[in-house]
Amino acid sequence: MELHVLDRGRIHADLNFALDGEVAAVHSDRSPELEYAEFAVWNLVIDHPEATILWDTGSHPEAAEGYWPAPLFEAFAHPDAGEHDLETALDEVGYSVDDIDCVVQSHLHLDHAGGLYHFDGTDVPVYAHRRELEHAYLSAKSPAGGDAYLASDFDHDLNWQVIDQNRYHLADGVELLHLPGHTPGLLGALIEREHDESVLVAGDVAFLEPNYEAERSMGASLLYDSRANEESVAFLKDLQKRYDARVIYGHDLEQFEQLRDGL
Ligand SMILES: [Zn+2]
Repeated sequence: MELHVLDRGRIHADLNFALDGEVAAVHSDRSPELEYAEFAVWNLVIDHPEATILWDTGSHPEAAEGYWPAPLFEAFAHPDAGEHDLETALDEVGYSVDDIDCVVQSHLHLDHAGGLYHFDGTDVPVYAHRRELEHAYLSAKSPAGGDAYLASDFDHDLNWQVIDQNRYHLADGVELLHLPGHTPGLLGALIEREHDESVLVAGDVAFLEPNYEAERSMGASLLYDSRANEESVAFLKDLQKRYDARVIYGHDLEQFEQLRDGL
């Protein structure tokens, strides 16, 4: 089983979104300088003997050209989404959209589900957790729910495979994990390989390493359920110990640069 990391560009946003209260006014410094940071957007190709699996589909290539609503783009800008579209990113690691046998959506936020249109009208299975699909439709189609869901990303003719379980065997050595917190139906994965170290895809349970290692909270706007997210981190740490696994964070640019050299 081979793993390939796809480069889907950089999101630019206030660091406080990822690290709650990282920059805050205090008595001795009443107007500290905010930090505008870069976050990696990546997808994964899991080249498994049973199937070529695509993990997430990134941002829509026209995110910066008005496809993303202006208030969302102001907060989370993704100016290079067009240069790093799914086809280009797959091509960089030697694949094309036609090679993909199945898709797993960790969740359906706009920086993760924007390439699903490639699979519109095909029979390529698209895996998502039931709670994510329910929450995504509620959010995109009603005033309730969260902001970061666009119906135009996921409301396609897709071969949805709805996961109800907390742990789901996708293929030999690839287990999907329900990790609620950032969203209600977030999925991660435990990938066990014969000759290489095991990998735990934590994704947006932890945007950055400190969210996981130091258990620094993400900003409130990135947490549907902060208590559930803490439990998901604890669950992952248990698995990490048991499998001696490498943990992959959701948007950590520094880690992403390392992962590109090989996973
Ligand atoms: Zn994300």
